[in-house]
Amino acid sequence: MGHMRTEAVVDLDAIRDNVAVLRSRTPAEVMAVVKADGYGHGLVPAARAALAGGAGWLGVAFLEEALALRRAGITAPVLSWLAAPGEDLAAGVAADVDLSAGAPWAVAELAAAARDAGRPARVHLKIDTGLSRGGATAADWPELVTAAALAAAAGEVEVVGIWSHFAYADAPGHPTIAGQVAAFGEAVEVARGLGVDPPLRHLANSAATLTLPAAHFDLVRPGIAVYGLSPVPPADFGLTPAMTLRSSVALAKRVPAGSGVSYGHVHVTPTGTGLALVPLGYADGVPRAGTSVGPVQLRGRRYTVAGRVCMDQFVVDVGDDPVEAGDEVVLFGPGRDGGPTAQDWAEATGTISYEIVTRIGARVPRTYRGGGR
Ligand SMILES: *Cc1c(COP(=O)(O)O)cnc(C)c1O
Repeated sequence: MGHMRTEAVVDLDAIRDNVAVLRSRTPAEVMAVVKADGYGHGLVPAARAALAGGAGWLGVAFLEEALALRRAGITAPVLSWLAAPGEDLAAGVAADVDLSAGAPWAVAELAAAARDAGRPARVHLKIDTGLSRGGATAADWPELVTAAALAAAAGEVEVVGIWSHFAYADAPGHPTIAGQVAAFGEAVEVARGLGVDPPLRHLANSAATLTLPAAHFDLVRPGIAVYGLSPVPPADFGLTPAMTLRSSVALAKRVPAGSGVSYGHVHVTPTGTGLALVPLGYADGVPRAGTSVGPVQLRGRRYTVAGRVCMDQFVVDVGDDPVEAGDEVVLFGPGRDGGPTAQDWAEATGTISYEIVTRIGARVPRTYRGGGR
C-alpha cells in the first residue's frame, strides 16, 4: 500500500480504554454516545470499540444513525433522541431502537409506529430541567407522562426511561447544575405519582460523568470523553485522544524576505525562509479560523499555520529548519512528544474540541489502529 497523503488515524484501543476509564468512575451503566459518525471517528468502529470497553448502551441523535448500527449487526441497546414529526419511527421500533419523547404528539407518533411495527415502542421521556432545548418543561411534564401512561396501558409503548441534559456541566459548581439535578428528581417524583416509574434515569454527559457522581443515576451518557477529549479543564482524567490528523508536506521551497504567503498575504515572510505546503484545508475540516494560529508538528517541532487556511491547503513557515516534500505533518493527536491536540486547535480557533474532531471532512480517510485489527 502506498503512503497516505492525509489520514485521520483512529486508535480504537484508546476508545476502548477510555470507556473502561469511564466505567471505573461510576456504578451506573455507560451509554457511549456515537452520534455524528462517532464524533468524526467512524460510527461503527467507534461503537464496537466502546462496547469492547464495557459500554452497555449506545446513544445517537438521529434514527438513521441507530439503523446504521443495527445494519452493521450491533445488537446492544441503542437510544436515538432527536426526531422531527413524520419520520419513519416504525423502522426504529422494528429494529429495537429506543426513542425519546418530549411532547404528547411524539408519544402519539410512537404509538402509531408501534402499531405498524407490531410491537411496543420503547420510550425514554425527556424532561427539560433547564437547558431549554429538548424535552417537556415542568409545566408540560404531567401531560407528557399521562400520554405515555395511557399508551403504555394500551400496550403501545413501554416507558423505559426518564432523562434530561445539562446546560453547564462543563463548569463544575455552576449553580444551574444543582438546580437541574433537583428539577430532574422532581420530574421523576411527579412521574411516579402518575404511575410511571421506569427503570432508567439518566442525566450525565461526559462532564458530569467525570465530575458529578450525584448525577449518574442508572446510566451515564458520555460522548467526547469516549474519544479521549475532556470537556472540563484540567484535562487529566486518564483519557487518551483517539484521533490523530496527519498529512504529508506536498511541496517545500525557499522564498525571499517580503514574500506574501497564501490568500490575502496575511503572512509576509520577515526573512528569507522555508515554506512547507500542507494538502489539507477547510474543506477537510481544518478551521479557516486556524489562519496564522493553528498549531502543527513537523519533524518533532511545533509551528503555526502561516497565513490563510485555504479550501484544500495551507502553508507552514519553518524558517531555516530542514523540511522536505513527503515529511509528516501532524495537526493534532494524543499530544505526546509535545505534539498539538484537538484541544489546542480548539483554543487557537475559539471553539471546542468537539467541533474540531466532528468536522473533519469526508475527504479525509479514516484509518484504524488497534481494536483487534
Ligand atoms: C451529545 C450528547 C451527549 C454527550 O455529550 P458530551 O458532552 O459529548 O459527553 C449526551 N447526551 C445528549 C442528549 C447529547 O446530545
